[in-house]
Amino acid sequence: MKSFKRIAAILLAVLMAASLFACGAKTEGGDKPAPETAKKYVIASDNAFAPFEYLDTDTNQYVGIDMDILAAIAEDQKFDYEVQNVGFDAALNQVQSGQADAVIAGMTITDERRLTFDFSDGYFDAGQILVVPANSEIKSIEDLKGANVAVKISTQGADYAQSVAEQYGFTVTTYEDSPTMYQAVIQGTNAACFEDDPVARYSIQSQHLELKVVGDVINAKPYGFAAKLGENAELISMFNTGLANIKANGVYDQILAKYGY
Ligand code: GLN
Repeated sequence: MKSFKRIAAILLAVLMAASLFACGAKTEGGDKPAPETAKKYVIASDNAFAPFEYLDTDTNQYVGIDMDILAAIAEDQKFDYEVQNVGFDAALNQVQSGQADAVIAGMTITDERRLTFDFSDGYFDAGQILVVPANSEIKSIEDLKGANVAVKISTQGADYAQSVAEQYGFTVTTYEDSPTMYQAVIQGTNAACFEDDPVARYSIQSQHLELKVVGDVINAKPYGFAAKLGENAELISMFNTGLANIKANGVYDQILAKYGY
């Protein structure tokens, strides 16, 4: 009986110590008072698509028109978010798999994408253009016969190139992101690539790439902020209201001007 009491006393002491320890641990970790109710949206984006999203190597932060528009709209509409710059194809996949709530990545609004995405109102118009080495003789898509053309996976440029490859007699190689696609053209692995017009021009100029744009802009269409079809309607609606507000108060124009528009 005595030993039973002793064991019980020891057990009680151990339990008390454990609960004290647990309390202590809780207090230590309790310095972030994030209320459970405040939703933090996860927004996926491209990893290299200047001037819309790109790493500022001085600050090690992602900057650009998309990043600034999103920040201004979130401030206007008072929502919390974090951006994951995972690359274009990965961003689309993250939204479809529910790992991210939405994507902002210079993403063209298309009827085909509307089958799987809900889009915001358009916030910038852009089409694709042919990009060739600075010393290339290629002047337009008609000159691509027999050429190997680089594209970036899941983009409008890739879709377009694949849709006309047979007609113009060229083959297509797919790359993961814009920088590797540009390098393939600069180094001569590919004779040309298709890229969004403002991105090609901005990247060539700001990074002094040995490339030039040729021919006409193809399929100019608006970019939109997108969520998985039927999900996050509230977020899309906040984006639209916020976009209208920052257009009305001049912030949208200031953002574009900052990047040369
Ligand atoms: N605007 C193009 C598209 O939607 C390219 C986007 C991108 O590469 N980030 O397909």
